[in-house]
Amino acid sequence: MIRDPATLQALVEQIARFVRERLIPSEAEVAETDRVPPGIVAEMRALGLFGLSIPEEFGGLGLTMEEEVAVALEFGRTSPAFRSVFGTNNGIGSQGLIMGGTAEQKQNYLPGMATGEIIGSFALTEPEAGSDAGSLRTSARRVDGGWLLNGTKRFITNAPQASLFTVFARTDPASNNAAGVSAFLVERDAPGLRLGKPDRKMGQKGAQVCDVIMEDCRVPAEALLGGREGQGFKTAMMVLDRGRLHISAVCVAVAERLIDDALHYAMQRKQFGKPIAEFQLIQAMLADSKAEALAGRAMVIEAARKKDEGHDVGTEAACCKLFCSEMVGRVADRAVQIHGGAGYMAEYAVERFYRDVRLFRIYEGTSQIQQLVIARNMIRSAAGR
Ligand SMILES: Cc1cc2nc3c(=O)[nH]c(=O)nc-3n(C[C@H](O)[C@H](O)[C@H](O)COP(=O)(O)OP(=O)(O)OC[C@H]3O[C@@H](n4cnc5c(N)ncnc54)[C@H](O)[C@@H]3O)c2cc1C
Repeated sequence: MIRDPATLQALVEQIARFVRERLIPSEAEVAETDRVPPGIVAEMRALGLFGLSIPEEFGGLGLTMEEEVAVALEFGRTSPAFRSVFGTNNGIGSQGLIMGGTAEQKQNYLPGMATGEIIGSFALTEPEAGSDAGSLRTSARRVDGGWLLNGTKRFITNAPQASLFTVFARTDPASNNAAGVSAFLVERDAPGLRLGKPDRKMGQKGAQVCDVIMEDCRVPAEALLGGREGQGFKTAMMVLDRGRLHISAVCVAVAERLIDDALHYAMQRKQFGKPIAEFQLIQAMLADSKAEALAGRAMVIEAARKKDEGHDVGTEAACCKLFCSEMVGRVADRAVQIHGGAGYMAEYAVERFYRDVRLFRIYEGTSQIQQLVIARNMIRSAAGR
């Protein structure tokens, strides 16, 4: 749902200009230094990018899903590391609070998240619990006036910068499944919480990830998200649905950027006396990429509209995440191929994007997990008929 097309158009154009004039020229520096310059982060804050999906009453822009997708289709046209800076505040780092927080919890944290003063991280994965997140072992034990958390969370995006973690922990020690899991809002300076060393990754340099370690980490009673035990896993899954549509839009945008780069290169690179764009085998790679990116764009926009209409889009979100993340992998591979040897060299953006996009098929649910979700929902709905 687009509430006011003119306002959205103005925002989209502003972001497109920011991407073109500020982010794309800084891509190589960010990859080299593994950090996004503070000046760019300040401009992101001024543009309101940290609060895109946070309700207006808490200082955010309160975008609908379709509006968020329209914006992601613009800011996704550059290195995914830039999006990562404000990605957790709009997605997995804030949505649990928006969907399941008490009025007081929302008031405490959302205004700071909307401005980017507070960076939120989502801490679900553990060394022994990835795809099978419901088997997580981090424990939360009730003590006088609060809770004691023990466990390690792995690969947590933005953890080095975060001041607030949504931590998923087992509150029912007798359980071994998702039903015994609750969510906690844990501040960075909670006693007993420490961070591991930043992880060294294949790509997306500039986006920081590390372990979050809790040893008798003490949090107050009010840290329990929504004030209710046993809701944590449900919250995590609701958050992931929205996040999957957001990531899918970013995959489409990266694919469109790569198609532009590959087309531009093919039109100026000459072999056998003519531009390689005139060779039909190159044209096939360009055309397949264009058709697949267009399919991804259409399915994400349609799923976002359906979500705004209030429908359950669990299946559609998983289909979008599966198709778009796999699609951008194929497009990146063709973009490298069209560049020939130059595509293997670090001075061309396609080499970096080829590594960057590999992550999209892994986090927020691997492709195999999306397939399981889709098929499970298909079987359930057929059985219920
Ligand atoms: C850069 C990065 C950032 C991340 N950020 C976050 C974050 O902010 N917060 C967070 O909580 N997590 C985060 N993660 C973790 C990420 O969500 C997990 O890595 C992902 O869910 C997969 O879990 P795993 O790595 O344990 O792999 P595993 O679950 O061990 O999977 C290994 C392989 O087995 C397959 N597999 C597993 N189960 C099945 C099955 N039933 N059927 C078929 N195949 C199966 C998987 O698809 C995969 O191919 C991040 C990861 C990375 C790499």
